[in-house]
Amino acid sequence: MPSSLAEYNAKRDFRKTAEPAGRRAKAKGSSFVIQKHAASRLHYDFRLELDGVLKSWAIAKGPSLAPGEKRLAVHVEDHPLDYGGFEGTIPQGEYGGGTVMLWDRGTWESEGEPRKDYGKGRLTFRLYGEKLHGTWHLVRMRSRPGEKRENWLLIKSDDECARPEGAPDILDEEPLSVATGRSMDEIAAGALLGPKIWRSNRASDPKPAASKRQPAKRAAGKAKRAASKAKRAG
Ligand code: MN
Repeated sequence: MPSSLAEYNAKRDFRKTAEPAGRRAKAKGSSFVIQKHAASRLHYDFRLELDGVLKSWAIAKGPSLAPGEKRLAVHVEDHPLDYGGFEGTIPQGEYGGGTVMLWDRGTWESEGEPRKDYGKGRLTFRLYGEKLHGTWHLVRMRSRPGEKRENWLLIKSDDECARPEGAPDILDEEPLSVATGRSMDEIAAGALLGPKIWRSNRASDPKPAASKRQPAKRAAGKAKRAASKAKRAG
């Protein structure tokens, strides 16, 4: 059976990007992750673990806690489970080139039969994240002729975790990485945590802009502590 990760692998040159190569995992967990991705356009990648891969959607506006807000979620190729730990930079010119932040992570729990509901294009689930909680819906829209991608909608259910229209936006309120406490600029500066850094950046641009250096240094202690905590948590 061809891997559902074939498209993921075909799009990437693993000699150039620090993103993990795609292999279907045996683990049958129920992780979820949201990655803030400053590619050619900023978006949030929403990923739910199912059958050893991360089912994935790209959400231009990101999730909203307001139940009336239907956020367009463009279905994209499956990603490997390892991708759920990826934070760093993808080289410019490579697929998805730009900065990737681990914006939220945790587990999800389907309220139905997840495999069947995914196939039907109608998932209802709870999120147990560090930022997002409560019940959510992902609903596939009817496709129009010629459309290459499936358009889905991510909608917050009206529960105790919802917020009314006009309430503070969780995206503004919680802008930093759940893994390292870094901002997008600090991840882009790439100075801190090592393993997922685009090294070739250093030769041509050895120092991040002066204005970014001090905040990055101040964040270093916090980021290191968060990283070791994250490591212990697995
Ligand atoms: Mn993306």
